[in-house]
Amino acid sequence: MPTSDNSHFNTIVIGVGSMGSAACFHLSQRNQKVLGLEQFTSPHEKGAHGAHTRIIRKAYFEHPDYVPLLEKAYANWHLIEQLSGEQLYVPTGLLYAGPPGNDLLQRIREAAQLYQIPLEEWDGAQLKQRFPQFTLPANAEVMFEPEAGFLYPDKAIEAMIALSIRAGATIRQQCPVLSWEADELGVKVFTEHETFTADKLIITAGPWAGSMIAGAQQHLQITQQTLAWYTPPADVPQNAQQFPCWLIAEERVPGAYYGFPALPNHGPNGWKIAHHHAGKPTHPDDTNRTINENELATLGKFMQQYLGVADDALITTKTCLYSNSPDEHFVIDLLPGNHQRVSVAWGFSGHGFKFTSVVGEILADLSMYGKTPLPAQFLQADRLSMI
Ligand SMILES: Cc1cc2nc3c(=O)[nH]c(=O)nc-3n(C[C@H](O)[C@H](O)[C@H](O)COP(=O)(O)OP(=O)(O)OC[C@H]3O[C@@H](n4cnc5c(N)ncnc54)[C@H](O)[C@@H]3O)c2cc1C
Repeated sequence: MPTSDNSHFNTIVIGVGSMGSAACFHLSQRNQKVLGLEQFTSPHEKGAHGAHTRIIRKAYFEHPDYVPLLEKAYANWHLIEQLSGEQLYVPTGLLYAGPPGNDLLQRIREAAQLYQIPLEEWDGAQLKQRFPQFTLPANAEVMFEPEAGFLYPDKAIEAMIALSIRAGATIRQQCPVLSWEADELGVKVFTEHETFTADKLIITAGPWAGSMIAGAQQHLQITQQTLAWYTPPADVPQNAQQFPCWLIAEERVPGAYYGFPALPNHGPNGWKIAHHHAGKPTHPDDTNRTINENELATLGKFMQQYLGVADDALITTKTCLYSNSPDEHFVIDLLPGNHQRVSVAWGFSGHGFKFTSVVGEILADLSMYGKTPLPAQFLQADRLSMI
């Protein structure tokens, strides 16, 4: 296969979705010669970043070790907003609720205490006063994280791609990578028509990570997640100024339900809901993304019970893919056995988008220096003794 002119780069990034666009952004800001290769046209709805909104929060129930990274992620989002002139983060606050003694709520409290994250405990009267849209069980515990909100994933990826190009990066859309190899001299990346070379490689292939990273496939479970939008009841405040993001746990139901305000100018104009828990296993190239009717019925019932939507309020549905690692924590690391040339980030397990802006920085560090000063060592692959 011929090697095209001008095809040698400092770093090639395979997959310019959430994490890949951020890696391109950080590397190009550091004057690295970067090539991002994307199989579709990013942003798109076929991988992990579709469906218009992503929650960002700091009182991290998944593990408090993520909190310092979140602080950096917030700062980096702010920087990307300033450089792009786009609003990417909307600070709505986040309402948490669940049955008394709920484990997830307890872990939120613990993370908040450990890192002094503002977290308000509310009684029923406070909830009614602030957000009368919610009808919760009388004994529900209710908390509010004022510094949480949501991000626009599609706008964020567009902004990071545009800033990368502005800083000199080359982004090739519609350019699937077939394979790659690394040796002591550098890396080669093969596409259908061209071969590119670089000193370093970053693989951020999301749900397709298994086909690009030997050893990841058997540890990665891709699941299909259902999202649904509903018309809010008439005459209640429904937009981001008067309605928060929310996350509600239920007795004996794994994970939690979560949702967003209506956004008149971004995606379907209604209240969005999803269940944060691994859904039906699938393959990322499986085009049959049929909505599971039982799952949809459960989401509809939840919206009727907790938010008073009408029986026929469903506006539309979508599916999106989670890439679940065995312990539901991310894997961000150098790939062993490749002369310190290949960095990978995968297994974001349905909670990675909020970190995108800092994961790109970690990947830029790993790629350029083989290590990062950011506290991300707990996400190294050796904890899974797999690759
Ligand atoms: C329904 C749903 C709700 C979520 N909600 C939240 C939330 O509220 N908050 C939050 O923080 N996170 C949330 N997440 C998780 C978050 O969106 C993901 O963790 C994040 O988008 C993962 O980013 P990624 O870069 O790994 O994958 P992607 O964004 O999918 O990027 C991978 C890219 O690689 C490309 N690619 C793959 N293989 C190749 C190849 N061979 N050649 C070229 N390109 C290739 C793909 O086309 C894709 O563009 C949610 C996820 C889903 C599905």
